[in-house]
Amino acid sequence: MGLVEHAFAKINLSLDVLGRRPDGYHEVDMVMQTVDLADLVFLEDNPDEDITLEVQATHVPQDERNLAYAAARLFRERSGVRRGVHIRLDKHIPVAAGLAGGSADAAAVLRGLNRLWGTGLSLDQLAEWGASIGSDVPFCVYQGCARVRGRGEQVQPFQHGLRLWTVLVRPPVFVSTADVYHALTERDFVSQPRSAAVMRALRDDDWLALRGAVHNSMAAAARRLYPEIESFHSRVEEAAQVPFFMSGSGPTLFALLPAESHARRVRNALMGFLREVYLCRFVGGL
Ligand code: ATP
Repeated sequence: MGLVEHAFAKINLSLDVLGRRPDGYHEVDMVMQTVDLADLVFLEDNPDEDITLEVQATHVPQDERNLAYAAARLFRERSGVRRGVHIRLDKHIPVAAGLAGGSADAAAVLRGLNRLWGTGLSLDQLAEWGASIGSDVPFCVYQGCARVRGRGEQVQPFQHGLRLWTVLVRPPVFVSTADVYHALTERDFVSQPRSAAVMRALRDDDWLALRGAVHNSMAAAARRLYPEIESFHSRVEEAAQVPFFMSGSGPTLFALLPAESHARRVRNALMGFLREVYLCRFVGGL
């Protein structure tokens, strides 16, 4: 028996870091949106009780450090199901890009094992378990659009009608999320979260208001650590003639566009000088 789950990437329509918590994590207030760039996660029953992993990609751990493997182990421990599974990952989401690729794979394994083994657990339960794997995993369990708070474990899914196109570009810069968090200073922390403005624009189906409200309070720290991001950002906006924003801790930049034809023109303009350019669309919730 086997099945496949789509592990969709996310972008941050807002990312406010409110401060550092006593437990060492950061308190965040974000609006995340799923886009249709996906890894494929194949799950197949293993005849013995082992978890095995096969990854079609470079720069991704092929062992228990992989978040998909960690998710399978966690699911077995928490559910008490003593069965084996073979996981095959077809990676399409760029790695270490601010698109939560690893978290999406982990969430897809949780959803997929729930189906494969017929455990009938709720998404709320899977998201609660997922929080111990990584801060973006709870959101990735639900997918769609959500306001996300705490250290990522408080997810409020939110339905809206905007089916925007987005062009993603990944500048060739290797970013460590942990290093960007460490580089945050008091000045980067936000006292008045701006996620509410993003939520209002989504509720009103007002894409121009949305584009005006998109922001990322990690962008300044990412640029301080990796100054190349800034020059890429300027070149991208100059070539595309539309504003771009950073997702997560970077370096991926994205533009929001209502018309497919415009999004295709933007993509084509960027493909001349950047290799990793993706045309995507917003995906609704489950
Ligand atoms: P986030 O937006 O959640 O910070 P990211 O998109 O910046 O995540 P990932 O693509 O999830 O970053 O990868 C971060 C690191 O996690 C990689 O360098 C890799 O070593 C490790 N990793 C573990 N499992 C996976 C996986 N299934 N896919 C990709 N990377 C993984």
